[in-house]
Amino acid sequence: MERHKFQWVKSPNFNERPSASITMVVVHHTVIPTLEETVNHFLSTESKVSSHYVLGKDGTIVQMVKDGDRAWHAGVSSWKGVDNCNDYSIGIEVVNKGNGMDPFTEAQYASLVNLIGSFVSKYGIASDMIVGHRDIALPPGRKVDPADNFDWSRLSEMADRKTVTELASRMQREYREQEHTN
Ligand SMILES: [Zn+2]
Repeated sequence: MERHKFQWVKSPNFNERPSASITMVVVHHTVIPTLEETVNHFLSTESKVSSHYVLGKDGTIVQMVKDGDRAWHAGVSSWKGVDNCNDYSIGIEVVNKGNGMDPFTEAQYASLVNLIGSFVSKYGIASDMIVGHRDIALPPGRKVDPADNFDWSRLSEMADRKTVTELASRMQREYREQEHTN
């Protein structure tokens, strides 16, 4: 297995999980174009955001929050009827401008496969619990990450993209219908 550079830089932006169980992985793009700026953003107490892991363009993995702690990456969110995805997920921020053109690199896909593979063995993450921020964010359309040029087929050994997409569109449809009747 290829070895990528790994660093630990502790973010102040985290708290305790309400329950110890970790059942989900959320993939994001940063919009912020570099690893250094992203890490600085997550180090700032004013930003009030963080992620367990940040993946640089060269595949470098920076861990900023312990898996067992609750990072602040998903915001208002829900999946399969359970709200507040930060409570039970691990967040991975992939450095990318998020404009649909900036390529996700081979090194980033390799690091993602390694990282998510390790969570699948360690925490038993199910294939329909490996999602993008866009799938779980509420209200629907609030988030678009990871961008359309993110290649989910690279994670197909672990992530069931078809089921996730179907579940996400059902949740978003139900959300809109509920809004309508309230
Ligand atoms: Zn995001």
